[in-house]
Amino acid sequence: MARRQASRSIRAIELAKERLGAGLLSDKFPRVSKMTILATYYYGWKDSILMVRTINVFPNSSACFHLQCPIKDCIHGFDLAPGIAELVKKGGKSAKGSAACSGGNGPDSPVHASVSYEITVQYNPANSSDGRTKNGSKDV
Ligand SMILES: [Zn+2]
Repeated sequence: MARRQASRSIRAIELAKERLGAGLLSDKFPRVSKMTILATYYYGWKDSILMVRTINVFPNSSACFHLQCPIKDCIHGFDLAPGIAELVKKGGKSAKGSAACSGGNGPDSPVHASVSYEITVQYNPANSSDGRTKNGSKDV
């Protein structure tokens, strides 16, 4: 029992460190006003639904997009950061994807948990103080 508690708190400390290191959403993606991640967790590779979570990310939230693995004591999880960075870079409003926990991906061990996600991004209104005006602007 003591051992389990110790491993849990180590995981919590690691996650807290990661959150701090990731910085704030407003620093990483200043144009984003809000982001919503709808995540569906599965046992195995979409065998059965474990839980559904909606994660709202605001400018003053941590820009850490490492979702915890739902499997007890698993320290791996799902890192959505690369997909989110790509989406925001191209100014996309939503994206869907899925990922498997790296904790169960050994050659002999099957995927023990996976997640499918839908990301929705809202951007701050375009800043009009850069000299451009909205009216009559046509891309040629
Ligand atoms: Zn896992």
